[in-house]
Amino acid sequence: MLYKRSSQLFAEAEKLIPGGVNSPVRAFKAVGGTPIFVKSAKGAYLYDEDGNRLIDYINSWGPMILGHAYEPVVQAVIEKAKLGTSFGMPTELETQIAALAVAMVPNIDKIRFVNSGTEACMSAVRLARGFTKRDKIIKFAGCYHGHSDSFLIQAGSGAITFGSPNSPGVTAGTAKDTLLAKYNDLENVATLIEANKNEIAAIIVEPVAGNMGCIPPNKGFLEGLRQLCTDNNILLIFDEVMTGFRLAAGGVQELLNITADIVCFGKVIGGGLPVGAFAAREEIMNYLAPLGPVYQAGTLSGNPLAMAAGLAMLQALHNDRAIFQRLEEKTAYLAAGIDKVLKANNVTFTINSIGSMISVHFDAAPVVDFKTAANGDNETFKKFFHGLLQEGIYIAPSAYETWFITDALTYEDLDFTIRAIDKVSKTF
Ligand SMILES: *Cc1c(COP(=O)(O)O)cnc(C)c1O
Repeated sequence: MLYKRSSQLFAEAEKLIPGGVNSPVRAFKAVGGTPIFVKSAKGAYLYDEDGNRLIDYINSWGPMILGHAYEPVVQAVIEKAKLGTSFGMPTELETQIAALAVAMVPNIDKIRFVNSGTEACMSAVRLARGFTKRDKIIKFAGCYHGHSDSFLIQAGSGAITFGSPNSPGVTAGTAKDTLLAKYNDLENVATLIEANKNEIAAIIVEPVAGNMGCIPPNKGFLEGLRQLCTDNNILLIFDEVMTGFRLAAGGVQELLNITADIVCFGKVIGGGLPVGAFAAREEIMNYLAPLGPVYQAGTLSGNPLAMAAGLAMLQALHNDRAIFQRLEEKTAYLAAGIDKVLKANNVTFTINSIGSMISVHFDAAPVVDFKTAANGDNETFKKFFHGLLQEGIYIAPSAYETWFITDALTYEDLDFTIRAIDKVSKTF
């Protein structure tokens, strides 16, 4: 496949946009080469500017769970656009999507809509701090909660007590309030809580991690976090920006039957438009302005086009719960197929998957946290990525990303993908 026009477009973009992209994950820095420029997409396929068709395993990093240009979402946006694109005033549509979200997700009474997952997580933490009147939070190394300052803290070597900023521009003052823990390590969390008695407002966690590949929680991990939070008056924030409305209609809270205090959403909830949301029981949500003292706002929050897209998406998921079963079966089929061909070709690998999330790691050891996720062989991944691209299959240009399975994928697409992986892995 040729990517001539994409390379030209990238060269032009680079002159005007830092790195040629508006979000770093779109760059090909980790794998080499230049990004593919998309012209359109439909169902399971992307069509690029060179006229290539690619089977898409990123799906806008999650939102397109029913495939690209899903008709009810497209129609809803077109119809709403004709009536005006933004008012900065309340609309009935906002109450409709709020009612549906509250009906689908357990343990929430009220929800506030924002414009991105970043905003949702940032606001959830502010709310938790205001509610508990405490400053510190615990986050896990390798979990991503958007790019607001207090989350851009990574595990440095042995950074157990205080985080150190890993992005210039994050002040030491901000970093000191973010404590880092190891994913799937309850003892580590208990130690942090003990060392910071009555100072921790919230623990924020991806209940199934998806930003260091896909890492499901070990048995008892989330139950343990819930107990530690309850015992220490800490709010448990589930960042379900990736997992919400994906692993089940009610997200991981429903899937694994665990109660979070605040839940963050993004991606699927907007049906492909810029939407995020955070939700909790009434007592906590009433702390938000204009009812309560914690300020949070947005000129375009609850935007009618975004709400129309989100509502159409949630309705589709609400009305056909078999979607989640179908997605799980397709993912399991793909995982089994990849497992078979990689074994046959003597590749060293681990596959993690749950629901419609899957990741392939080029390392034999179990991948359970950031450290083990980082052990994968990146040179093999580069060959894997470019090999699949040549076969017309698009996965994320990074070994640390989850693949998202959509309902639009057919078993023919999955078989095609497995055959391509067989072919490519013979060249490792
Ligand atoms: C994508 C993501 C975010 C950030 O959402 P944006 O809409 O990109 O700001 C936050 N948390 C998780 C778990 C995510 O996957």
